Amino acid sequence: HLPLFPMIRLAIQKSGRLSEDSLNLIRECGISFQTSSYKLKTEATNFPLEILYLRDDDIPGYVQDGVADLGIVGQNVLVEAGLPALELEPLGFSKCRLSLAVPRAAGYDSVQDLQGMNIATSYPKILGDYLAERGVKANLHTISGSVEIAPSIGLAEAICDIVSSGSTLLGNGLREVETVFRSEAVLIAHQNLTAEKREILEQLQFRMQAVRRARR
Ligand code: ATP
Ligand code: ZN
Repeated sequence: HLPLFPMIRLAIQKSGRLSEDSLNLIRECGISFQTSSYKLKTEATNFPLEILYLRDDDIPGYVQDGVADLGIVGQNVLVEAGLPALELEPLGFSKCRLSLAVPRAAGYDSVQDLQGMNIATSYPKILGDYLAERGVKANLHTISGSVEIAPSIGLAEAICDIVSSGSTLLGNGLREVETVFRSEAVLIAHQNLTAEKREILEQLQFRMQAVRRARR
C-alpha cells in the first residue's frame, strides 16, 4: 500500500566502514529509529525516513534507479560506478585514498614507469581514467579483494587499492607511489525526486549541515 504521508528512503551500508558514522549522523540529526542486525530496513519514529541496509557497492545503482531516494556511500564507489552526478554533498567521514603501490625493491620514478605493466585493482574505471589522462597504457586486472597480495603471487607488478595507514602495504612488501583518488563519504540522491520528497530532503540536509557545523 502507499504510505499515507510521503517518506524518503535512505540507503546506508549494512556493515562496514561507513555504517557506524552513517547511523551516528542520522541520530545526530535528531532522528530516532530502532536497529537490529537482521533487519534490512527500519522506519524512523519522528521523521519521514526509511533506512535501507545494503552492501555499499549496490547503493549508487539503487539510487540511480530510484529504489532508494538517497544514499550514503564513498566517492570511490560512486565514481567507480560511473554515477558521480548523484552526489549532493560531502559528509566529512570515511576519508581514505586510492593509491598505486609497487614492490619495495622495484625502481620507480614516475607514473610513466607503469607503461605495459600488469596492475591489480578493484577500481578499473578510476585507475583506467587516471592512467589514460597521463598517456599510460597498462593491463588492468580487476580483482574484488586482497589486491595487495597480487604482486607476491606473481599476478601483477603493481596494485591500486584503498590506503589509510599504509601498514597493509608495508606488510606485503609494497610502497605507495601515487595517490590516484581522494575519497570521503557523500550524500547522494535520485535525480527525479517528487516535490514532496524534495521537501523532506531539504529538511534532512538542513539538519545534516547543522550537525557538521556543530562538529567543527
Ligand atoms: P560491503 O560489504 O558493504 O561491500 P566493503 O568491504 O566493500 O563493504 P568497507 O571496507 O566497509 O567496504 O569500506 C566501505 C567504504 O569505506 C570504502 O568504499 C571507502 O569509501 C571507505 N573506506 C575504506 N577503507 C577505509 C579506511 N581505512 N578508512 C576510512 N574509510 C575507508
Ligand atoms: Zn563493498
